[in-house]
Amino acid sequence: MNEELETLCEVQKLDTRIIENERKRAFGPQKIEAMAKEVSDTRERLAREKAVIEELEKERRKKEQELEAEKSQVKKAEAKLNEVKTNKEYQAMLKEIDAARASNDKTEEEVLVLLERTEELKKDLQTSTKDLVKREKEVLDETKTIEKEIKTVDEVVTDLRKERERLLSGINSDLRARYNILIEKRGGLAVVNVRNGTCMGCFMNIPPQMFIEVMKNNETITCPSCNRIFFYQEEE
Ligand SMILES: [Zn+2]
Repeated sequence: MNEELETLCEVQKLDTRIIENERKRAFGPQKIEAMAKEVSDTRERLAREKAVIEELEKERRKKEQELEAEKSQVKKAEAKLNEVKTNKEYQAMLKEIDAARASNDKTEEEVLVLLERTEELKKDLQTSTKDLVKREKEVLDETKTIEKEIKTVDEVVTDLRKERERLLSGINSDLRARYNILIEKRGGLAVVNVRNGTCMGCFMNIPPQMFIEVMKNNETITCPSCNRIFFYQEEE
């Protein structure tokens, strides 16, 4: 094979590896970002749940105070019962006490319901908080691993780029420029095989006479439709 063509084939291999590595690298930061969002979303949700619990506790304390006040009302009324002179007054007082007791029962029931609900939510929150702590640790570890991988990939790419530049410096500047433009404009594929007379870049058939010339691997022939540089290899 013509030396320049051989170099271009080598550079193409390096460029393909660079592109693969960069594609792989791009997933890292995306994954890190998604995990960070997941954790912060969970944190926000738990903060909202905590606020709900605090609200319920406030409500319960208020009701407990009400209950205390109502109970002392009943006690006062019961104490007064002995001082009542007439039966009519006595009956009225009893009725008042009954009503106050009924109201106490109702408030007591409400306090209980609030207590149960709060306990339930607290238990859930405790479990969720434990899960979150665990997940935070996992995310931290995973983030570190991904960052390490990114660093490794960066080092690999740096080496590949150095090698690519070294190889490219060995060919004439016009061809080098042409190659670089093709890499940029043709999705990272500048040098392609021609299999059975078909360009493996754009899959157009090339004229038979051109195919014969390409098969010799003696000069840089470009595809009439996509401008990629041809080489020939029977089996890939
Ligand atoms: Zn083509």
